[in-house]
Amino acid sequence: MECSKCRSRHDDRHPDHRLRHGGCHIGRRRAERCADRGSGAGDHLADSPAARDPQAIFRDGVFRPDETWLDGQGEPFNPGNYYCVGGNSKFYGAALIRFRETDFAPVRHMGGTTSGWPFDYAELEPWYQAAEEMYEVRGCLGEDPTEPPHSGRYPHPPVPDEPEIAALRARLVRIGLHPSSLPLAVDLPRWLARGQTPWDAFPDTDGSKMDAESVGMRRALSFENVTLHTGMHVDRLLADDAGRITAVQVTGPDGRSEIAARSFVLAAGAVNSAAILLRSATDAYPNGLANRSDQVGRNFMNHNCSAALAIHPWRKIVPSIKRRFRSTTSMESLMPATCLLATFNCLGASPARSSPRRPGCRGPLPDGSRIMRLIST
Ligand SMILES: Cc1cc2nc3c(=O)[nH]c(=O)nc-3n(C[C@H](O)[C@H](O)[C@H](O)COP(=O)(O)OP(=O)(O)OC[C@H]3O[C@@H](n4cnc5c(N)ncnc54)[C@H](O)[C@@H]3O)c2cc1C
Repeated sequence: MECSKCRSRHDDRHPDHRLRHGGCHIGRRRAERCADRGSGAGDHLADSPAARDPQAIFRDGVFRPDETWLDGQGEPFNPGNYYCVGGNSKFYGAALIRFRETDFAPVRHMGGTTSGWPFDYAELEPWYQAAEEMYEVRGCLGEDPTEPPHSGRYPHPPVPDEPEIAALRARLVRIGLHPSSLPLAVDLPRWLARGQTPWDAFPDTDGSKMDAESVGMRRALSFENVTLHTGMHVDRLLADDAGRITAVQVTGPDGRSEIAARSFVLAAGAVNSAAILLRSATDAYPNGLANRSDQVGRNFMNHNCSAALAIHPWRKIVPSIKRRFRSTTSMESLMPATCLLATFNCLGASPARSSPRRPGCRGPLPDGSRIMRLIST
């Protein structure tokens, strides 16, 4: 069947198609702005002026893939999924928060009770500790009453508050709340030396964020028997009749080839790992590999997202931000305030809400969103 969206031959009723649809739209990269991004087949991110340019990142979406995915209703959208060595962690906010003890236990939801994890927090704790040391996390224990037990301290003190945040923290403490510093894996002085920008959603091109490339991959590559192949797109896994993976089929600069090994780890991100399993269907496994349940690639959801944004009206606001805020709220009405806090709670937010036409911008807040403004004078 020809897909109505991309004109290629897929069965667009099949979930695999919905997941892998993006692959059909991998077009010419915006090479002039970011020569070595890849799609799926990622390469090292190179430094460029765009790396610290909020307009390029948020408005023009220069680091986003030239891919179109379909949401559950078949609507196209451009995913905020980055393909490069280090994956999405190159762009992450570097907040490395441990799960709480209760996160591992069965949880009762309206639709039923989850089974819980096969291990508990205590079993994982030494690995959290080791990871925090490896990723040089900056944080502070004792501030957050929900913090689970730690066997050691954070390797570095927390990133210091800016003056406005320090004042806000003091006021929150005064009314009995418990503001706490986020555990952050960023070398702040080094990050700021490259440019005075925040780091969440900005790509790490010089290793001043502790991410999967600057820490994990660098350590892995220090072993002689580790080789990194970049620019390789994993098309599918090849399995024998018993369902054991024997090789992986890849397409790289020299065309298609197969890589055989004794063991494989599939770690292409939540969506692409599922898409690869579905693409690897055989006569013996027509629903894809590891998919007897027929649940692979289904039930995706974004995390519940709560955030607080503080805008200081007397600090310089770039005109584009001011324009954007004008469209949703009256900037002038906020000017007498010393501080605006906008908190929003996106319940069940779907990435499909991203605007397909303006890849750098999110669409309207999802249903169930709550916007609250607190204006303090
Ligand atoms: C802007 C932003 C901010 C974030 N902030 C935080 C934060 O503060 N704290 C936090 O904990 N998390 C944060 N996250 C989420 C975090 O980055 C991801 O959860 C994490 O990177 C997922 O890791 P992963 O290895 O599972 O997948 P990914 O990071 O997606 O890595 C998958 C890798 O597989 C490659 N790949 C995919 N498909 C193929 C294919 N077919 N062939 C070959 N290679 C392929 C990709 O190129 C990539 O290198 C943030 C994410 C974003 C985008």
